[in-house]
Amino acid sequence: MQPAPAQARTITADQSDFAFTDALTGLGNMRRFFDKIDRLIEERADDPAPFAIGVLDLDGFKPINDLFGRAAGDEILQQVAMRLRAAMDTHSTVTRIGADEFAFLFPLVFSEEAAREKTRLLIEILSAPYDVGHRTARLSASAGCSLYYSEEETGEVLLNKAETALYQAKRTGRGAVVVYTREMEEAAKRVTHIEQALRRAVAAGEVEPHFQPIVDLETRRTVGFETLARWTDRDLGPVSPGIFIPIAEERGIIGPLSQLVLRKATEAARDWPEDLFLSFNLSPSQLVDHNTGLQILSILEQTGFDPRRLEIEITETGLMNDPASAQRIVEDLRRVGIRVSLDDFGTGQSSLGRLREFHFDKLKIDRAFVASILEDRPSEHIIRAILAMCEGLGMEVVAEGIEAEAQAERLTQFGCAGGQGYLFGRPCNADATLGYLHHTGEQKTLQRASS
Ligand code: C2E
Ligand code: MG
Ligand code: MG
Repeated sequence: MQPAPAQARTITADQSDFAFTDALTGLGNMRRFFDKIDRLIEERADDPAPFAIGVLDLDGFKPINDLFGRAAGDEILQQVAMRLRAAMDTHSTVTRIGADEFAFLFPLVFSEEAAREKTRLLIEILSAPYDVGHRTARLSASAGCSLYYSEEETGEVLLNKAETALYQAKRTGRGAVVVYTREMEEAAKRVTHIEQALRRAVAAGEVEPHFQPIVDLETRRTVGFETLARWTDRDLGPVSPGIFIPIAEERGIIGPLSQLVLRKATEAARDWPEDLFLSFNLSPSQLVDHNTGLQILSILEQTGFDPRRLEIEITETGLMNDPASAQRIVEDLRRVGIRVSLDDFGTGQSSLGRLREFHFDKLKIDRAFVASILEDRPSEHIIRAILAMCEGLGMEVVAEGIEAEAQAERLTQFGCAGGQGYLFGRPCNADATLGYLHHTGEQKTLQRASS
């Protein structure tokens, strides 16, 4: 038998190398992917030209697996692999690096735009139907790409960036391609900076509760306050909770931050008249943490604040991640008399079914509806419907974000009992809140004396 030509021999040896091959699809695996990148970086040592890599993840592959069975799932993965391999030019490589995750290397793609275009093409190729026995299945895929610009980058760094971009693509919806850009890199650095500053601030007790009045719309009497966290960093200046709360949630700082703010808030609220309640926001991630209930109760015990004066605000998102865990925490809190409100109602992935499973004492109508109540008929109808529903279910209602007298009047007309917004007062620190209470208290005494 003739010996195989040298080139063919290398290919065969290469392919038989199990450690570098994905058994199901015959594509290279993660090791092959990194090996290819390392070699390319070495080759490009004296050449400043960038190159691109990408990761592609099938959308909703798991349901397909469940629906058609594992064997069919494997069959689809093989077809996906075949299509991707056929789409590669002679320089490019595609590998399988996870169950339904593929990674590719484009040595001759030099720009973010070109990477996006090439990857879009792959996604299009994957969108054609797949034959599974006598049936057909459809799939979409999302992808994230990153470019090699400097020697500081390794295969791992590049893959991390592409995964970050993929994560963003998945959040945008199905079938999206996101390229990790230099702006994203800057944004990631900013987030890390804020995270570090926030960790320090929480440890040093520098996050403060502010309080915003919640009023009875008819009498305009203050009935309670919502606690809102405020943080001013030495270098960054004031940072909005819209920015630091999501970072605290994502980076695991929300627990300690929340405990600090609750401790300070209940200490401040002890000096208020006893008929005023204190409302406090809980983040979704706190409703999957079994310690949350105990932590809240232990703070109330330490500060001597009556649990029956405390309300907890949670959002629909908070109930979705792990409804059973949320239910347990909420039950623990209600057992000692803490009341529970559903915050920002109408903006999340609202499910009216949830209102049957969970009992809420109060519902807060999101300010988006209040903002358009005067100009927009649909908002008016939605608010009326929410109010009727709350009445039926025995829940109190507070409309958020009331800025104008006309909005307050319209809401009162519709029978909304509670209101909150800049019209009645902006969030203030503990001292200013005490001042506000003295002032409104004196006014009440004056009113009583003159009537
Ligand atoms: P939220 O719980 O819905 O709080 C209401 C937000 O609306 C607050 O924003 C408040 O300042 C703002 N607001 C009140 N009245 C008006 C108004 O008339 N017009 C307008 N345009 N806005 C008004 P803030 O303080 O920036 O807080 C944003 C979000 O951050 C809060 O939304 C809450 O989800 C979260 N948050 C704040 N403090 C905490 C905290 O201690 N723990 C947790 N987990 N989340 C918090
Ligand atoms: Mg709230
Ligand atoms: Mg709200």
